Amino acid sequence: MFLIEDPFKDLLIKMNQLKNNQNQLNKVEIPSFSRIVWRENCRDNSDLFYRWAEEFNRAELMTVVNKVRDCGIFLVEDIKYQEECFNFNKMGLIFLPIQKIEKDNSLVQPIFSSEKSRFIQCAVSYSEEKAQELVGCLRSGGANSVSKIGKLLGYPSCCIKSLLKYSKEKDAIDSIFTAAKKTKGVKISKEKVADGKGFPKKVSAETLSVNILPEINVALRNFGVKTISHIPCSFDCKESQKISKKFLQFMPSSSSLLKFLAEPMIWDEYKGMAIINTKWLRGATQSIFHDDKIHHIINLNKRKV
Ligand SMILES: [Zn+2]
Repeated sequence: MFLIEDPFKDLLIKMNQLKNNQNQLNKVEIPSFSRIVWRENCRDNSDLFYRWAEEFNRAELMTVVNKVRDCGIFLVEDIKYQEECFNFNKMGLIFLPIQKIEKDNSLVQPIFSSEKSRFIQCAVSYSEEKAQELVGCLRSGGANSVSKIGKLLGYPSCCIKSLLKYSKEKDAIDSIFTAAKKTKGVKISKEKVADGKGFPKKVSAETLSVNILPEINVALRNFGVKTISHIPCSFDCKESQKISKKFLQFMPSSSSLLKFLAEPMIWDEYKGMAIINTKWLRGATQSIFHDDKIHHIINLNKRKV
């Protein structure tokens, strides 16, 4: 049982508008959003959920301070920007703003709390040259920047290779789905399933059932809850697991987070919007728009090893 269903209504309307307005030649740009509805009696867990997100943001920074990698991407509340720059400059870190994140409050639940809706996304590094290189690559975009960005942010080479291949694909489905498909032991089925919204009608879907390493479960990445900053090439990528362990060293609440990430979850994407069902909450977030007329579902950790 969920407390309320309504918060998703405007998102679905927005998605339909996007779908109807789409230009046949261009992909529809899905706006960034992430919204949560808590299950009944689970709202008390929201503090812990947002603490995990804050701890990951801090680990983005600490992995750079400790030279686990050259650069990171850190979110700073705009009102604290000067103060944070001053503090981290003292630690020998360079901060360069990438972009202001002005969230549309009608559509977006900020990742940390309802009052903090304005952030500055910064490139952070111990080297000014590397921080500048990262900002330049992020702004120029394109396939050529992908491997440079991946290297600067410390992604494993197997995941960079997979990201590069993915960036060149036309009509790609979300790379989380691609990663799940490449995971050892995945079971793939194409059938009609319940649509997950409580209606009796069934919808066409491609469903992947897969057990994954909790350390690299990024299904909730758009809510800030994650343990690595990249999408792994598969959900059993050992190199990503190694990096995750380095991030987790800087996350005091890592044991409760890993326990949560090992629980069953369902990630259900349709035409660029993903709904994630977990034991505590249902989340809605943007995915990659495509015109595939089926649901893409990942049934995570259904069968315990
Ligand atoms: Zn990998």
